[in-house]
Amino acid sequence: MSSAPQKSAWAVAQQQFDLAASRLGLDAGIAAVLREPRRQLTVHFPVRMDDGSTRVFEGHRVQHNLGRGPAKGGIRFHQDVNIEEVKALSMWMSWKCAVMDLPYGGGKGGVTVDPKKLSLGELERLTRRFTTEIAVIIGPESDIPAPDVNTNSQTMAWMMDTYSMHVGYTVPGVVTGKPIALGGSLGRNEATARGAVFCIREAAAKINLNLKGATVVVQGYGNAGSIAARLISEMGAKVIAVSDSSGGIQNPAGLDLAAVDAHKKKTGSVVAFAGSTPVSNQAILEIPCDVLIPAALENQITADNAGKIKTKIVAEAANGPTTPEADEILFKSGAMVIPDILCNAGGVTVSYFEWVQDLNRDFWEEDEVNARLEKKMVRAFHEVYEMAQKEKSHLRLGAYLLSVQRVADAMKVRGIYP
Ligand code: NAD
Repeated sequence: MSSAPQKSAWAVAQQQFDLAASRLGLDAGIAAVLREPRRQLTVHFPVRMDDGSTRVFEGHRVQHNLGRGPAKGGIRFHQDVNIEEVKALSMWMSWKCAVMDLPYGGGKGGVTVDPKKLSLGELERLTRRFTTEIAVIIGPESDIPAPDVNTNSQTMAWMMDTYSMHVGYTVPGVVTGKPIALGGSLGRNEATARGAVFCIREAAAKINLNLKGATVVVQGYGNAGSIAARLISEMGAKVIAVSDSSGGIQNPAGLDLAAVDAHKKKTGSVVAFAGSTPVSNQAILEIPCDVLIPAALENQITADNAGKIKTKIVAEAANGPTTPEADEILFKSGAMVIPDILCNAGGVTVSYFEWVQDLNRDFWEEDEVNARLEKKMVRAFHEVYEMAQKEKSHLRLGAYLLSVQRVADAMKVRGIYP
């Protein structure tokens, strides 16, 4: 059987938006505006490599919507980054911030590079020059980047320092996900995973699933995936399979996550972990389990494999892992999909807390961060759940109806300038 060509993330994002816009009966003018990004900047910039040569890299920063506040969204370093992907990720950020009722619009950025092939010095020069190129549109009141795939708190420290050097004084609020020493927030590193696990807990209660002893599969054992695995296992669940870009491992009796972490630290991958059998990144999605956490990249659950997924809850720690066609198949099968714009919104929520702390020069205890995060995640989960119940739809459509309406309302009252 031949499978349909894979849709771009942007095609998926627009399709999801169109579905919500038509269901909401959105004003045609507002729908046309929201269907496209407000600004997109593509840059080409040179980096001096360690061997003395010069390489030119392509990067992007896209601001999808600024109706409710400054653009907010991560910076991705990956060999497959392209403008269509960044556009999609920026649109998803608009909805994510609106679902969480944060005073932000959506943005995203990325550089087409495999950072694992660069030295630390090359990576720093690339980050600093990319920051310089996009400095014309970022700022604490206009567009606030954060980490995403293959970027981390060190990347944010370089970005913050570069921006601060340009303006002549220290501007902690220009990026979030910074090291604590530079005005980062306690709890930020774990926030995406913690938020996802709060959602899983609320979802499990809705379907009477006891998380103690529940089986969990995680695709993408990075920042979001590995911490989600640890947090859910601390609640008594059994993580039976995990994977990274090199492949996956499984053990039906449950993986010893501390040992997996040590193995990954030593070898760079989870692959070949003692006491596990290998599983491919596609096959891992089809392992029967109670909770499936896609935490890698887009387009993993499609019309081709959705019918083979045997789980009760799909918790989208990754952005865009499920296509609209797969959504329908999973909905009919009775699986509850906690959509990305809700499930992984813990990261941007604590980023917002970090920005608020930076602007006020007033820092909170970790307990306070986590308690505020829990309150916001639980409220958003139930708002989305109730909207989906009312509309007899899956949670993704519920989340879209809520968030697209919030952004549209802001645009309507602001009016069209001039
Ligand atoms: P990361 O770079 O820390 O981890 C990504 C992991 O996925 C790595 O282990 C990598 O090896 C693995 N991976 C890459 N390609 C894969 C493939 N084809 N199959 C299986 N595994 C693969 O990145 P992250 O920050 O954890 O981000 C993961 C996802 O979560 C992304 O979709 C990102 O947009 C989303 N997300 C992250 C945050 C955050 O705060 N970190 C917030 C919101 C959403």
